[in-house]
Amino acid sequence: MFELHFLGTSASAPSIHRGLSAQVVSYDEYRFLIDCGEGTQRQILRSGLGFRRLHRILITHGHLDHILGLAGLLSTFMRWEAIDELEIYAGAFALERIHDLLHGVVLRGAKPPMRLRLIPVETGTLFEKDGFRLSAFPVTHRGPGCFGYAFEEPSRRPFLNERAEALGVPPGPLRRELVAGRSVVVPDGRTVTPDEVLGPVRRGTRLLHVGDCAKTEDLVDVCRGADGLVIEATYLDVEAGLAGEFGHLTARQAAGLAATAAIGHLYLTHISRRYHEKEVLQEAAEVFPRVSVARDFDRFEIRRRD
Ligand SMILES: [Zn+2]
Ligand SMILES: [Zn+2]
Repeated sequence: MFELHFLGTSASAPSIHRGLSAQVVSYDEYRFLIDCGEGTQRQILRSGLGFRRLHRILITHGHLDHILGLAGLLSTFMRWEAIDELEIYAGAFALERIHDLLHGVVLRGAKPPMRLRLIPVETGTLFEKDGFRLSAFPVTHRGPGCFGYAFEEPSRRPFLNERAEALGVPPGPLRRELVAGRSVVVPDGRTVTPDEVLGPVRRGTRLLHVGDCAKTEDLVDVCRGADGLVIEATYLDVEAGLAGEFGHLTARQAAGLAATAAIGHLYLTHISRRYHEKEVLQEAAEVFPRVSVARDFDRFEIRRRD
């Protein structure tokens, strides 16, 4: 299960009700801040999430409405929030801009108050631990080096209690050994192997996050079957021309991707002040009914559909 917190859901400039792009994905002890628009540190405080363990930041692309908050965050960390390390992952163009912002404006030669690492993102696995995997995939927007992020829980083989019962495996440590993939000797002296009591492999929950995005055709394969998809919906269909011109999606296009790729649930963000939230929801729901238009401080749990 993944937890998804929206901290900022506005497109390009903040509105009275919406801050700029930022969201936190949590899994187990891991937390990832995705994008860090201006004002994100205050949103983190207001959300109650706090700064603990929030030392991995994934940036979707280098536009200012997604990165300016990094300056404030680092400035605060320089004063009082003690963290040991800060890792910022981004494509090459975004990373160059972030480097200028942090080293040129905030630090200006000062030593960062923690191990500060700017890590270039390329397509593929970024982080893997005990079967949990975070990977990056390319996204088309304006300019080079835009990335989406995929979070995947470890796959598992379910333990078949009835089989274990029939084979005389008592509840307790022997079953745990089998789950861990090791054969055991049961009380009557027979050996039972994991294959006898474990069902077929069942993939874990998949959550995908796409930031700003100009087209969806190249995302169908990577999104296919995901349990949750976060993606922008900056425009409505009536202004599809503008969406195309500025490299953004309409709510209809985002929902079209969700339908084609058979997503579990669609979360729309990067909402423009020019529309009412209800219109965005309605347009998307006509194409794909399992949809939410995110608001600041919304929290969702993403689980496998079945
Ligand atoms: Zn944006
Ligand atoms: Zn953008």
